[in-house]
Amino acid sequence: MSDTPVSGSNFIRTMIAQDIENGKHGGRVGTRFPPEPNGYLHVGHTKSICLNFGIAEQFGGTCNLRFDDTNPEKESIEYINAIKRDVEWLGFQWNEEHYASDYFGQLYDYALELIDKGLAYVDSQSADDIRVNRGTLTEPGKPSPNRERSVEENRSLFEAMKAGKFADGEVVLRAKIDMGSPQMCMRDPVLYRVRHVHHHRTGDQWCIYPMYDFTHCISDAIEGITHSLCTLEFEDNRVLYDWILANISIPHKSEQTEFARLQLEYAMTSKRKLKTLVDEQIVAGWDDPRMPTVAGMRRKGYPPAAIRDFCERIGVTKKNAWISMGQLEFSVREALNDSAARRMAVLKPLKVKLTNLGKAIEIEQSNHPKDPEMGKRTLQLSDEIYIEQDDFALEPPPKFKRLIEGGEVRLRGAYVIRCDKVVTDNGVPVELECSVDLDTLGKNPEGRKVKGVIHWVDAKTGVAAEIREYGLLFNEANPAKVELEQAINPASLVIYQGFVEPAAAMATPETQFQFERTGYYVADQHDHQPEKPVFNLTVGLRDSFGI
Ligand code: ATP
Ligand code: MG
Repeated sequence: MSDTPVSGSNFIRTMIAQDIENGKHGGRVGTRFPPEPNGYLHVGHTKSICLNFGIAEQFGGTCNLRFDDTNPEKESIEYINAIKRDVEWLGFQWNEEHYASDYFGQLYDYALELIDKGLAYVDSQSADDIRVNRGTLTEPGKPSPNRERSVEENRSLFEAMKAGKFADGEVVLRAKIDMGSPQMCMRDPVLYRVRHVHHHRTGDQWCIYPMYDFTHCISDAIEGITHSLCTLEFEDNRVLYDWILANISIPHKSEQTEFARLQLEYAMTSKRKLKTLVDEQIVAGWDDPRMPTVAGMRRKGYPPAAIRDFCERIGVTKKNAWISMGQLEFSVREALNDSAARRMAVLKPLKVKLTNLGKAIEIEQSNHPKDPEMGKRTLQLSDEIYIEQDDFALEPPPKFKRLIEGGEVRLRGAYVIRCDKVVTDNGVPVELECSVDLDTLGKNPEGRKVKGVIHWVDAKTGVAAEIREYGLLFNEANPAKVELEQAINPASLVIYQGFVEPAAAMATPETQFQFERTGYYVADQHDHQPEKPVFNLTVGLRDSFGI
């Protein structure tokens, strides 16, 4: 990846530069991106991905992809594959691919080490009792009656847990730290629980599974991660992260640093909530273009460079803040303005007969107004074309610059036409008869100024196309605040049966265009075919969020 700047500064990059200068961790930098494979990646994850991989790139370090797969009930290979595809699509390549489940053996041994040191015990209290006895922020917790079990007893109970002698929830392994600690996470946190479930990688080998807090720090240390970057909700747990690494005989000690989550307006950044949208068929799948998932953004036509640019612009801080969707769209528009070839498409067609054109003509059009390297294409103009219904008005509002009965307008790249006759059906225009001023190809008629320019598609060569306009999925800036049904925007998808010029129809899936005067569109990743084109709206030409 070479086209994105990754050198913008933030408090984490400053800290790492300092650590390298001081020779900490031998001057080495190792990061990781640690998703749980329980859903598809969303826009929030892209912030973490760009940060972790960007730092490795900037400092000549490494970044691993590690699946935090300790909750087998919710995880699957489908999610693992989707996550890998999405990270690569974003333009990053991990150094090593790991799975927390690959460390189950080592994690088990470290748990035994804590038991042997008198720092962990098997608790047979019920889950409810454990919760109640943890106390509150104002009251200390109550020690479990099992807290003083002997090392031997704990060892044999833990071995029995592993051997499947207990039912789910019957016992847990807890660290023995401090039931009176002002930090709740230090009140003898649970390290292992019993779950008789099949794991997508380890099969039925294990019926005990380690908890996140125990797994994460040790996985980091096993991989030699120097800077373990995570979101602010883990800040309180840092003491536990450090406690576990300090109390086991692992040579490397990783360090955790927290940053603010990305909260994007009109989007949800929780895999669990996004899964509900998929499961309840509110959207067509994880890659529905309305979804704030990486797969959804891809299908909507957001270029990976735009997403990286967005992450760079929003920066990394320790303060939670909402980011406007307009900011993401700004980056998308910036990227596409340069890279997308121009084409013509008509979404709501109105047929126009060019009464005096005679034989069809061929017109050369450049593919990009500012980039001659993008070349030219030839368009055919014949005696029947389509224009947008909205570009004609029977009763024009004030200052209407487009076509009216008896008025003139320029067809983009072609002639000035005059509307001589309107055919209506129940008062609605269904066809126009226009005459062409044959003297006006590429120049204005003498003595007359024709202000309006409209786009068009030739009816003979144009291809009928489905054009999907995706709007916001939610009508609430913070959709999590209200009930899901209330938050959903019922008009988030509008489908047009329009026409596109042949050079748009012929494109391969995922090709991006600016449809002139309309917006940026992408040939749908799955459904687009040259003979049955399908385009998705990526973003309009102008900002609608007022940023
Ligand atoms: P979710 O609630 O969507 O499952 P998560 O934090 O539980 O989010 P993980 O798969 O565990 O999801 O996340 C992998 C990494 O991505 C973690 O380091 C996490 O901190 C980071 N991450 C998740 N959501 C965001 C976000 N909104 N902004 C920045 N980083 C995030
Ligand atoms: Mg998580």
